Amino acid sequence: MHTTALVLFSGGQDSTTCLAQALSKYERVETVGFDYGQRHSVELQARLVVLREIRAQFPQWASRLGEDHFLDLAVLGQVSETSLTRDTAFKMESSGLPNTFVPGRNLLFLTLAAALAYRRDLQVLVTGVCETDFSGYPDCRDDTMKAMQLALSLGMDKRFLIETPLMWIDKAATWALAEALGGQTLVQLIIEHTHTCYLGDRTHRHAWGYGCGQCPACELRLRGFAAYAATPAGR
Ligand code: ZN
Repeated sequence: MHTTALVLFSGGQDSTTCLAQALSKYERVETVGFDYGQRHSVELQARLVVLREIRAQFPQWASRLGEDHFLDLAVLGQVSETSLTRDTAFKMESSGLPNTFVPGRNLLFLTLAAALAYRRDLQVLVTGVCETDFSGYPDCRDDTMKAMQLALSLGMDKRFLIETPLMWIDKAATWALAEALGGQTLVQLIIEHTHTCYLGDRTHRHAWGYGCGQCPACELRLRGFAAYAATPAGR
């Protein structure tokens, strides 16, 4: 029986939904975020605001929500050159992956998260990776997660469970999941306070939240929200 979890939490829509699910399931939940030289500290700011708002608006979850950890991963900026960490434009690479791809990023995140979970005695690692997304990042695949679960459990001699609540659902279903977990209160919290936009835009407010409305992350979020809003639950 699993009772404790560590959520990989970026302050975005996906990881906030994962956090809400963990809080509804587990008795003790902690969060971990990574600073790898993101071009915009907006998303790092969003993490703290989302945690604060969850504590304030969901008293039943506040008592379960423990420490937030923040790890400096600036070294990622040294080994990779991507539009997330450098000031270059977004494009598709010849590999077929967008240049937002940081090779091995999720593998590193999970390894560090597991080391932290080991120390904090947390059993489940929760991550918002998803195969349904457009991007096809190889380190978000279900098989990659299963392989990591095995490698980390063997390598640390502790049985970890890697939980991926969003693996097989699309963005519209992610909004619906948030509503199922925390009602419109959670949906509104996600709209208002989570951050997705690659450009770090917090000046343009749309029905689905803040963002430039043009970058791939905004496009995905707005399309998902439109699909969700068209359902009876979203209206
Ligand atoms: Zn954007």
